Amino acid sequence: MSHHLISVAEASRLVAQYAPLGGWEWAEVHRALGRVTAEAVATDIDSPPHDKTIVDGFAVRAEDLSNGVGELEVIETVMAGMWPNHILCAGQATRIMTGAPLPIGADAVVMVERTTAVAGEGQGRVRIDDSTLRVGQNIVRRGAAMRVGDEVIAARRCLRSIEIGLLAEVGRETVKVCWRPTVAVLSTGNELVPHQDVPRAGQIRNSNGPMLAAAIHRAGGVARELPIGPDDPAKLSALIREGLDADMLLISGGVSAGDLDLTPGILRELGVVEIFHKVQLKPGKPLWFGVLRGEQDKLVFGLPGNPVSSLVCFLLFVRPAIRRYQGEIDVEPRMLRAMLTAPYRQRGPRAAYVPSRYTWNNDGLQVTPLSSQGSGDLRAMAGANALAHFPPGDQDYEAGASIEILPLDDV
Ligand code: AMP
Ligand code: MG
Repeated sequence: MSHHLISVAEASRLVAQYAPLGGWEWAEVHRALGRVTAEAVATDIDSPPHDKTIVDGFAVRAEDLSNGVGELEVIETVMAGMWPNHILCAGQATRIMTGAPLPIGADAVVMVERTTAVAGEGQGRVRIDDSTLRVGQNIVRRGAAMRVGDEVIAARRCLRSIEIGLLAEVGRETVKVCWRPTVAVLSTGNELVPHQDVPRAGQIRNSNGPMLAAAIHRAGGVARELPIGPDDPAKLSALIREGLDADMLLISGGVSAGDLDLTPGILRELGVVEIFHKVQLKPGKPLWFGVLRGEQDKLVFGLPGNPVSSLVCFLLFVRPAIRRYQGEIDVEPRMLRAMLTAPYRQRGPRAAYVPSRYTWNNDGLQVTPLSSQGSGDLRAMAGANALAHFPPGDQDYEAGASIEILPLDDV
């Protein structure tokens, strides 16, 4: 085992280097939210499909009005979904509703608020008073937003509600999307009992399993929780084999230097090649990362058992790999800049990620590191909405210093 601890940046680079991209499948548009496109999507229609009005009002010929004022004969009414029957000629107007096609001959639409109905035969007459009238007003031309064949969604785009609407507009029932990875979670430790049990002397509940499963789900993966693994080589080995059926395997606990930290040895025996073990990170130093070579390479992460450490490692290294597998391009943690509200003393060669609270006011983001009982203190972590990042090296940060934070709003 190497005693050289690599930096967070180097560890991220190695994970990125080994993280595979999954395959693709068809998804129904209604089930595609949050998926990433594996194709470029083109439109089969012009949008709008016709010259249309964007207000309720009267379609007119601008030349019939002087300074936007005049009285016109109303020849018909066109609602959205109808088609005009009449060409607009000199002295005429067509009543028209938002979204409806513009009659031939019209070159402007006057909103109804700038008109007055005048009684008369047939559809009557209308008095127009629109001093800012100009040709083309309130009209969107056919194909202005998109023309048949235009690419409207690029490949490798994450589908939000907006893109779901756009897919519907261009007539798609299904869309090619990248696979989501299945991610197995194995929580190890003789002290662990399932969360529904009452711990006896020396025991604690398994909080990492449910937490990591939830975090996987939030990151877009499909979590598969395995039974709790005891610190027993044969049993651990069997569970790890089972976990290696998934696209990725997360093992929590057993990667530190304790007597029962068996995971790295078992993984090596099963042919999982160690890429790195231990990172200049606080919390999260014991992180282990390896790859099982195959038709599709499988990533294995040995996460530290302490829940906060485990989550920090998940966010910095596992989530990018899950995002990459499901086709996302911009996968690295999205850091924001915030102003420290209190001094912070950073010491030592490990990058610190400190549970913190950020708020937003007129001066921008403000962040306050929280006090906690260490990396086992999930309760304090629950009060946090960000991790404050302090790079390695001795430094005294003053209140007001600008630092990077990783928001936890989507965790
Ligand atoms: P380990 O990484 O196995 O040395 O564990 C470090 C600390 O995390 C110990 O205090 C463990 O009891 C605790 N721990 C390990 N696994 C879990 C888990 N699944 N849920 C909650 N705490 C855990
Ligand atoms: Mg343990």
